[in-house]
Amino acid sequence: MFFTLTELEHHPILFDVCYRPGEIQFPEEFSQIGDLRVAGTAELLRNTLGEIRLRGHVTAGIEAACDRCLEPARMPVDGDFDLFYRPAVKAGGHGEVHLEEGEIDLSFYDGDGVELREAIREHVLLSLPMQAICREDCKGLCPVCGVNRNDRQCGCATVTSDARWEAFKQLR
Ligand SMILES: [Zn+2]
Ligand SMILES: [Zn+2]
Repeated sequence: MFFTLTELEHHPILFDVCYRPGEIQFPEEFSQIGDLRVAGTAELLRNTLGEIRLRGHVTAGIEAACDRCLEPARMPVDGDFDLFYRPAVKAGGHGEVHLEEGEIDLSFYDGDGVELREAIREHVLLSLPMQAICREDCKGLCPVCGVNRNDRQCGCATVTSDARWEAFKQLR
């Protein structure tokens, strides 16, 4: 769904869209599980040089490999967004763009409008947690034999620094 300046000049646009998995191109380490739903409003802000505001709510299920055990980890996205888009300043244009504090959700757009799919893609990626963890108490893979320690106990000895120190003392 593309919001053009021309249309926004006349009226705000309400949207309520479902994207099936694959319709939004996420980086390959992420997969979308089920529909991604986004609903809200696009409007052109008055007294600006074409600043577009998108706000609403997005829900999605994103999956990635667990950082500890590599099994799929679910990362549900369910939250409000409030995004601002300014026309990209053309090269050679005068003046720098100063970002005021609190304007962390400010982006720029080229051409004559904003593509919802692209905006939501960025927003979802930014709202994912830094770590993908399949569950809070995931025990991860054994560093010795590689077994998934959530599934079974392998019994490998985990060498602690104390044990190494003991071995060193015995060598002497
Ligand atoms: Zn895990
Ligand atoms: Zn092991």
